[in-house]
Amino acid sequence: MSPAHYGPVGGETKVVGVFGHPVAHTLSPPMHNRAFAELGLDWIYLAFPVRPEDLADALRGAAAMGLAGVNLTIPHKVEGARLMDRLSPEAERIGAVNTVAFTPEGLVGHNTDGAGFVRSLREEAGFDPKGAKVLLLGAGGAARAIAVQLLLEGADSLLIVNRTAERAEALARSLNEWAPALVAARGLAELGADDVAERELIIHATSHGMAPGSEAPPLLEPEWLSPRHLVCDIVYTPRRTGLLRAAEARGCRVLEGLGMLAYQGAVAFELWTGRPAPAALMKQVLERHLERRGG
Ligand code: NAP
Repeated sequence: MSPAHYGPVGGETKVVGVFGHPVAHTLSPPMHNRAFAELGLDWIYLAFPVRPEDLADALRGAAAMGLAGVNLTIPHKVEGARLMDRLSPEAERIGAVNTVAFTPEGLVGHNTDGAGFVRSLREEAGFDPKGAKVLLLGAGGAARAIAVQLLLEGADSLLIVNRTAERAEALARSLNEWAPALVAARGLAELGADDVAERELIIHATSHGMAPGSEAPPLLEPEWLSPRHLVCDIVYTPRRTGLLRAAEARGCRVLEGLGMLAYQGAVAFELWTGRPAPAALMKQVLERHLERRGG
């Protein structure tokens, strides 16, 4: 491990961190601490192993001790939403919280995963989702966060495709409650060439293709892809997934998942500090740490 980049911890150091279980693998502390150092902020980010049954106590304790905020990761995102005093509009629609701000008005829950994805889409691929026709593979927590943000940003329509069709249908129903008729759903087995041809933005948001399963063939037939597609994979281990390699070979533009990870952190950083985050630097820190891990 490299030496700490931040300055000495003092009486005025502001504390933020992440609650997870397990949490030892998290890349968030080096990413945020490097960003604090870059901006000369007297802040520190720590990882706290919090068991599911202790989440409410941990949040109350952190608020009582004057922490500025915390991230919530697996398995706390959904239960965390129930423990907030207030939810941001996107966290309410997603039903999960990954960023908590401790404010004088109480615990405010945000979800920066979807916003992180869209910021990566805009800043790294130059793609504005407003008016876009989207194919979204997956119906888990990450897919839900991305779907909500794309609809909030004015996407034209979403087709959600999932291995378990019922899960895709349930997600589409809940999204259509506030974005009527914009969302359709289908099981993976029913996905066809026309579904892909009709849409310009393809987002893979399942855990398929993650190391050590990275040699598995992509969930959709590469022959269905053409140069008009922007293909995004939110899996970031490996960075160049089988789907992205296949899409590149078909002449598509591609977007890796590491940008989403960096930008969800950048949005949280900005919510807590009120300062623009050094997002490119945060991404470099992630890249370095993943390379060291052989990712
Ligand atoms: P989740 O809630 O557990 O959902 C898992 C999703 O993957 C479901 O749609 C599931 O389908 C599908 N799935 C799993 N194995 C599959 C397989 N072999 N074939 C087809 N579909 C499969 O997980 P999540 O939190 O949404 O995370 C999904 C992935 O996104 C993970 O790899 C995670 O690392 C990544 N992620 C990346 C970022 C980032 O910042 N880049 C952020 C969050 C998550 P069923 O419903 O049929 O089980």
